[in-house]
Amino acid sequence: MNQMIERVKTSSQKEKPSVDALGFGKYFSDYMFTMDYETEKGWHSPKITPYEPLVLDPSAMVFHYGQAVFEGLKAYRTDDGKALLFRPLKNIKRLNLSCERMSIPTLDEDLVMDAIHQLVELEKDWIPNGEGTSLYIRPFIIATEPYLGVRPSHSYKFMVILSPVGAYYSGQLNPVKIYVEDYYVRAVPGGVGHVKTSGNYAASLKAQNNAEELGFEQVLWLDAKEKKYIEEVGSMNIFFKINGEVITPKLNGSILSGITRDSVIELLKHWDVPVREERISLEDIFKAHANGDLEEVFGSGTAAVISPVGELKWGNESITVNDNKIGQLSFQIYDTITKIQLGRADDPFNWTFEV
Ligand code: PMP
Repeated sequence: MNQMIERVKTSSQKEKPSVDALGFGKYFSDYMFTMDYETEKGWHSPKITPYEPLVLDPSAMVFHYGQAVFEGLKAYRTDDGKALLFRPLKNIKRLNLSCERMSIPTLDEDLVMDAIHQLVELEKDWIPNGEGTSLYIRPFIIATEPYLGVRPSHSYKFMVILSPVGAYYSGQLNPVKIYVEDYYVRAVPGGVGHVKTSGNYAASLKAQNNAEELGFEQVLWLDAKEKKYIEEVGSMNIFFKINGEVITPKLNGSILSGITRDSVIELLKHWDVPVREERISLEDIFKAHANGDLEEVFGSGTAAVISPVGELKWGNESITVNDNKIGQLSFQIYDTITKIQLGRADDPFNWTFEV
């Protein structure tokens, strides 16, 4: 049964930042959702309260062994002032998958849906108004038990916070320069790459910094065993259009199952564009480029929706994709998904959820 979500009100409201100042993840709305877990009680006390700092014991297990999971999704403002979420149930299911892998007790899907719904409804005015802007929703769980032994925590906190974010692109989609990382790896078979746990992101920072220092925007991650097969690009899934056909790495346990990735695949099928999920070697991509068959490369993720790839550098070799221009299919996918998210196009897949 659904638990009642308690509300604690505040009279003080923060000033909302201007659209130009937004950026990503810098500002937070007035309220947050919290719910606690103890082994004896299960998940209990769901609440919407004013956004405020947490008090945690320094020995809280999350600080030591990183037992933490999170999600990321967005609420969009439609032209007629409605708030739409994009496939929120997928994020909730993926959060539970992350919980299972990290030995965190799973959550009731309906309750989480209700929590996100109520919080976004209450904070609707925090969805910014500018083109390309949205309200980023960050659900997360941390292990709170004060204990230093290595085992699953006996207590947790689940929270949802909201952050108004600016447009990813100012104007046109910008093709990015990608550095193929052939020393560090993001994830290993049997590891945690297929879930959203904090340590994955901490572990990725060094390679990302390295790439940035060399003048690249993102890293292309290869498989950990052979450093031969393509996994992801930065915090995005990756797609290649070769000779009219679209391919993307098959989910193998170390790749995150992106919700945008799934949407791109469904959309391509709907358009009768051939699309395959398979193991892809980087060598084959470079060969396709040499043969003149590599037409488009793009990343997919909640942040940018679609991010065209203009250049790939692998060791001493470098290739330019589609003359460093936005591919026609990449743009069409971007345009269709963003229009669905904003309620500006038909939604034949029932992807949006009105708040
Ligand atoms: N891969 C990784 C590692 C990510 O962090 C993300 C962002 N969640 C994605 C892919 C894209 O997933 P989604 O389309 O669900 O945002």
